[in-house]
Formats: sequence, C-alpha cells, structure tokens
Amino acid sequence: MGALFQNYARRPIAIDKGEGTVVFDTNGKRYLDFTSGIAVCSLGHAHPAIVKAIQDQSEKLWHISNLFESPGQEQLAASLVKDTHLSYAFFCNSGAEANEAAIKLARKHTGKHRIIVFEQSFHGRTFGAMSATGQDKVRNGFGPLVSEFITLPFNDVEALKAKADDSIAAIMLEMIQGEGGVNAVSEEFATAIKEICETNNILLIVDEVQTGIGRTGTRFAYEQTVLKPNIVSIAKGLGGGFPIGGILGTAELFNTFNAGTHGTTFGGNPLGVAVAQTVIDHIFDEAFLQAVNEKSAYLVKKLQESLPENYTIQGKGLMLGVGCGGVEVAPFITKLDEAGLLAVAAGPKVIRLLPPLTVSYEEIDEAVEIFKNVLVG
Ligand SMILES: *Cc1c(COP(=O)(O)O)cnc(C)c1O
Repeated sequence: MGALFQNYARRPIAIDKGEGTVVFDTNGKRYLDFTSGIAVCSLGHAHPAIVKAIQDQSEKLWHISNLFESPGQEQLAASLVKDTHLSYAFFCNSGAEANEAAIKLARKHTGKHRIIVFEQSFHGRTFGAMSATGQDKVRNGFGPLVSEFITLPFNDVEALKAKADDSIAAIMLEMIQGEGGVNAVSEEFATAIKEICETNNILLIVDEVQTGIGRTGTRFAYEQTVLKPNIVSIAKGLGGGFPIGGILGTAELFNTFNAGTHGTTFGGNPLGVAVAQTVIDHIFDEAFLQAVNEKSAYLVKKLQESLPENYTIQGKGLMLGVGCGGVEVAPFITKLDEAGLLAVAAGPKVIRLLPPLTVSYEEIDEAVEIFKNVLVG
C-alpha cells in the first residue's frame, strides 16, 4: 500500500473473490455484498454469462479503436434506446466521462453555456463533472472551476422558477441523488422541470449513472416520472464490473455530435461492449425488472419490521437508503463490515443498500438479520 496516493479512505478489507452476492476476503471471511462495487456489479460477481461473454470476446478482439465500424456498439446502442424516446448512443469509459459528453453536447447544441445543477448532486470528478457537482467537499481546492454552472436547492420549485429562463442551456440532475443521500426528485419538482424546459427551450440531462440499467426497478429511473430527458448519462451498472459508460440522446441532437466533435480512444471497446450487451440482455427484460421490484418491496418490508420507527427508508428498487434517526452512520458501516454485510454510506447520515439485482430472498433475509443485530441489537 505504501506506493499509493492516499486519496481513498479504504476499509481494512481486501476482497479477492466473489460469486453472486457473496464475496470473500484474503483471510477467507465471507460477506454479503450490498454495495455491488457501488451499484456496478448489477448481475452479481462472476455471473456465468458475463464470464463467458468476456472469455469469448477476449479470444476474438480486445481493441481496434473508433477509426473503424463497430457492429457491437451498433447493437448495444439499439438495445439501449429500444422502446424509448431516445435515438442515439455514444460510448465512453466512466460516469464522469459520460457527463462530460452530456455537458459538451448540450452546450454545442444550444449555443448556450449556463447549466442548472443541484445541491448534494454528484456527477463525477473530471473538471466539467466536478463543476456540475453540488458538493463543496468534491470541489474544494481545485478552482477555478468550469464556469456557468448554477447550483440550486434540490426539489425547490420556486428557486428553479426564479433562475430558469431561455438563457439556460440545460438542467442536469439525478432522478435519485446517490452520493448525496438517496434523495428522490419529487413529483412536483419533476412536473415543474418538464414545464420549464418546454417553455424556455432548455435541454434536460438526466444523470442515470447510478440509477440506470434496472437499479431502481425500471430500465431507467426517469421512466417512473413525467420526464423525457434529451440526454441520459449511464455507466456503473452498464458494464456489470467492466468499465464502460455512455450517453443516450434524442434524435434532434444527431447533427451536433458530427464527425470530429467528440471522442475517446477506449470508448465502446469490444470487451466492454460484449459485457454490456450481456448485461442489457439480462436486465432489459420485463420478468427480470418485475423481480427487482418484488425483491425491493420485500427488502423494504423486512427493514420496516426490523427497525425502530424513527428510522427512514428512502429510494427505489434496489437503491435504498436507511436513515438512522439522524445520527452519523460511519460507525455502523464498520460494524456491518465486521458482521459480514458490506454497505456504503450516502452522505454522513444514510446507509445505502445496493445489492446485486440478482440478490436472492435468502440473502435478503440474512442481510436484514445482520442489519438488525448491528443497528438495533
Ligand atoms: C458514480 C457517479 C458518477 C461518476 O461516475 P465515475 O464512473 O466514478 O466517473 C456520476 N454520476 C453519478 C450519479 C454517480 O453515481
């Protein structure tokens, strides 16, 4: 560890193998992984179909670049936009890169620069994505930031109405703020955004890097609202553990991203695309998504039965946040680690539960039992 920058507060656990929801550390200790590598391993660890996809592709072609046609990207793009109002995809390697593409596309398409973003949001660590992020702890020390981002309070219709006019290029937000505390967009706020965007010719960018690809019980979280975003950014769950991100956009944007305007060497790499196609083939399936919703309802009910009344349960699908009566949760996370349940905080006061979408009912029972023992005793 001596040669690493200490830019992460790493937990003293070294995981070295996993299968489904279960992972083992280098001492052979077993854990239930309710982090999924931060909403990434959507089909669990070492899913046989993903293992096969990467094995097969690795024997054919790893990388060729975007100098050439990519039938794999074409197929993945078609699968992602099928039966949606979206028409086109661009692939990159991470969530932050996806948001960079979204911001660049929105600025170039509208010819405007100002983008409204929200407090407690998280959009990534690159300069554009960091500048869009409404958290001082992410931005401090790195100024000057990319200008023309306007940060407003989340779910505050009046504050939005006061700032939104036709000088705004885009409104950018998460349907459920992940890093910021598992806070969902209210119905009232979604309705206001829709109306404001239509009236003022403002593009809507929805950052689905965490909420997308089935995590909240639908393919994309925006589908559960009145919103029809012009640009959707995706990453995390898309690759099931292989780094791949992307944006999806509406037809009107097609001519803005013309040849030479934007790109990446690795983006849409054949290995990543082969894995992502397998992930999408599993998750974009009515029965699979139905099962996610049923497991979510079961997990929420079990948590409600097990926890004191002043505890809150937020979120949707298998992206849930537990508020523990307003106390800081860091000590609980450590105790959960010791008891064999991996979870991740969302802000200082919420424990986030992000099991693989393939989690079993038995594993939910076991996890809630550990959760109850650690938090309530
Ligand atoms: C994780 C996350 C990002 C950043 O993704 P990276 O792959 O870490 O760059 C952006 N937006 C949201 C909503 C995220 O949860």
